[in-house]
Amino acid sequence: MLKSAQELGKVSCHICAQVGSIEKHVCDRCHSELHSRKTNSVQRCIALLFASVVAYIPANVWPIMVITQLGVTEGSTILGGVAIFWQMKAYPIATVIFIASVLIPGLKIIALIWLCALAKGLVKMSPKSANKIYWLTELVGRWSMVDVFVVAILVALIQMGNFMSIEPGRAAVSFTFMVVLTMLAAHSFDPRIIWDRVRSTSSS
Ligand SMILES: [Zn+2]
Repeated sequence: MLKSAQELGKVSCHICAQVGSIEKHVCDRCHSELHSRKTNSVQRCIALLFASVVAYIPANVWPIMVITQLGVTEGSTILGGVAIFWQMKAYPIATVIFIASVLIPGLKIIALIWLCALAKGLVKMSPKSANKIYWLTELVGRWSMVDVFVVAILVALIQMGNFMSIEPGRAAVSFTFMVVLTMLAAHSFDPRIIWDRVRSTSSS
């Protein structure tokens, strides 16, 4: 089996990508600190995931939009908002909100929990499939702010006239926190530790 850079005592600089020696701890070219793997990657990822699950609850329980229609004001949760737009026959908006604010964050959190369990050796999966899951979390993660923009655009669009107005509710803050926390969790996860685990189990 080919040796990894870590096994050969080599490490790539995060800043300038120069390959240097692990023992030196400092990059030859740009003098920034060298790390073979992100430090405490799994622990950090789990802590951030836990915080994002905590934020996920108020984001779904509290009203994300406050709708005033014909003088009647009522708050609407994310799922309630999906139902309202569906009833209004605004199917694309309802679908975008559902995918961006319920499906994507939920799937991303589950995928990251799975990857952490994999890195800790609690579950088994081929590293190729694990890499695909990681790639998926990175891909969907880019779209996780879409919902915040949808609410912002709706607020701007429907602000005109007394017939109907929409304002962001307090769940919008929790939702934004949740999105940022899952982004940080994905960023703190180092996918190379999946391959490290495969090496350590296949060599022992
Ligand atoms: Zn460097």
